[in-house]
Amino acid sequence: MSLSDPNLDEPVVHLTHLDHLWFQVAGTLCNLTCHHCFISCSPKNDSFGFLSLATVDRYLQESISQGVKEYYFTGGEPFLNPEMVPILTRTLQYGPATVLTNATVLKDDWLTTLAAAEAASLYSLEFRVSIDGYSPETNDPIRGIGTFQRALDGLQKLVQFGFLPIITATRTWPDSEDGQILQRFSETLQSIGYQRPRLKLLPTLQIGAEENRTHGYRDSERISSDMLADYDVGQLVCEHSRIVTDQGVHVCPILIDSDDSLLGQSLDEATQPFAVRHGACYTCYQYGAICTNPSSPAASASPRRQASLLAGRESE
Ligand code: SF4
Ligand code: SF4
Repeated sequence: MSLSDPNLDEPVVHLTHLDHLWFQVAGTLCNLTCHHCFISCSPKNDSFGFLSLATVDRYLQESISQGVKEYYFTGGEPFLNPEMVPILTRTLQYGPATVLTNATVLKDDWLTTLAAAEAASLYSLEFRVSIDGYSPETNDPIRGIGTFQRALDGLQKLVQFGFLPIITATRTWPDSEDGQILQRFSETLQSIGYQRPRLKLLPTLQIGAEENRTHGYRDSERISSDMLADYDVGQLVCEHSRIVTDQGVHVCPILIDSDDSLLGQSLDEATQPFAVRHGACYTCYQYGAICTNPSSPAASASPRRQASLLAGRESE
């Protein structure tokens, strides 16, 4: 490598410890076609396919030796995968699980099974539900006609089954309006019986469908090595996570479409450092922790188990 090689100064992030293991469990297949989806998921996008229970099981077993602490499931829409309920049930034998869903296809019998699996587990099952506005007028232009009401019905179902879903909204409004919009979200969620909703705002990622909806990254929107010098890289998902797709193990959930993101076929093969040279890396740098759950008292223990403990029905 010559001294003039521009790659010499590339900022690199090392995997410190594999704390979080993600699964692209529905590939890029989704029942919706949101205009801001950073991996352009849709009913027709099969660039990545479903993960089977057998495949997930293989990585769960490998994850023990890596000391993984939490598991995340995303897509596409995870609940299009016909094995999603058994996959979550199995995962709860290994650790806390979070599933990212648009909540529009949830069925009562699935939630009955999952509530029972969580109650029997030492670990929590979290649902992260994406809605991008507090009303049909603010949500549906981005996520599709009728999606607000369908997602709200799904959220209500989750609350009725005793879950405490985290609502994520992608910020498609000026930062200065955050307070007012969060207030409107809270009011909407309280109207369906969710009294203390957990809300997380996400920045847009200017890739995939969002690049067509608005614009891509400018060349200047990149991380440099200097920028990382005094930065807490622990905020970057690639510092403590990897994601399994049907093609192997990739660096993070954001970049699966990028040619350089596939790192290996096993967790052990995918531990090498990664050059954070992409525009999306710049958004991670600016906002930090965009893929993690907001902090919550129920972060590691099952909410039902906590409720039992509080009610004195169980001791530890
Ligand atoms: S943003 Fe989520 S719900 Fe919308 S198309 Fe993408 S994966 Fe599906
Ligand atoms: S997009 Fe974010 S998580 Fe992915 S490699 Fe870049 S900095 Fe890391």
